[in-house]
Amino acid sequence: MTTKMMRAARMHAVGEPMKIEQIPVPEVRPTDVLVAVKACGIVPNLGNVLSNWGNWFPHLPLPKLPAIFGLDPAGVVEAVGSQVIGFKPGDRVYVNPARYCGACRNCRAGETTACSHYTFNGYFGFSERSQRIYDQYPYGGLCEFMSAPQYSLVRIPDSMPFEQAARLGYLGTCYRALRTANVGPGSTVLINGISGTLGLGGALFALALGARRILGTGRNRELLARVKALAPERISVHSLDDGSMQPWAGDVTQGEGVDVVIDALGPGASHGPMLDALRTLRRGGKLVNVGAVAGDVPVNLHYLMDNDITLVGSAWFTTAQGQEMADLAEAGVVDLSVFQHHTFPLEQINEAIGGIENRNGGFSNFVICP
Ligand SMILES: [Zn+2]
Repeated sequence: MTTKMMRAARMHAVGEPMKIEQIPVPEVRPTDVLVAVKACGIVPNLGNVLSNWGNWFPHLPLPKLPAIFGLDPAGVVEAVGSQVIGFKPGDRVYVNPARYCGACRNCRAGETTACSHYTFNGYFGFSERSQRIYDQYPYGGLCEFMSAPQYSLVRIPDSMPFEQAARLGYLGTCYRALRTANVGPGSTVLINGISGTLGLGGALFALALGARRILGTGRNRELLARVKALAPERISVHSLDDGSMQPWAGDVTQGEGVDVVIDALGPGASHGPMLDALRTLRRGGKLVNVGAVAGDVPVNLHYLMDNDITLVGSAWFTTAQGQEMADLAEAGVVDLSVFQHHTFPLEQINEAIGGIENRNGGFSNFVICP
């Protein structure tokens, strides 16, 4: 019997370009599916993960090399394991890369994001335990076929192109943050870094969830104007180059302060804008951090206590929340047509990673179509 082979982009050593190689198509285990990858999102942070992660964040290990990266795959179910229920060949899916063990105390309590083995398939892990998960799921999305557990599948509507579905990961990060903060009708939300890859998703889903006012900050005035144009009557923007955001947020909210801050600042951002945004919250407000502000931030805890303010981190999103996003898109409640797709074949993976620096803020969507 001849083994069926496929093309995969693999990285053999940190700092080296990926190589396109022929490797066997994965065999699926009983509760897994085989997905024919049609599109895989390349996020701006991938270059950092591949080149700098070991130095910047040694507590977030990469999989053993050589490895197949690729965080955000979407495609078609090709085959299913003998114990798969509810999915069949031909189904269109997004594969949530969040992997969990299913056995730890948190997993058994249904808190899978708190799993002791929590791992981003095709990206990086959250502890040394992640290698155990990578041994089971060594395939990211930068190959023709990948195996995935049935619990990771988001069913996507026929109206959602694969290139768009490959954006669900970074959309979901802000979606979960908004849900964590109970954003809904009547809410006012400030998104710090609204024109970036994360922040734009926050704007789109805050609109979809019924937020009354959305305040957004950024640096690039042209991109800020594009974000505002999504819903001029509900979105207000402020350039971080125009000084403190507190007087502006006070004006927009008639002195009430905002209910929720989503911090989505990019890598290398200074602590100042996050601390400034914290002071735009009303009493009882909540700041959810999903951005890349690094290091120890000097926070006045007494101020948080006095004002009953919550500051919380939020990681990624659950498959159930991924399904909610797909359902909102199918129902026409959220408009994901704003993205400009830049698609590349697998063979141009290194050029795609290098070219992402020239993106048009969060509106650009870099996708590999294997
Ligand atoms: Zn677990």
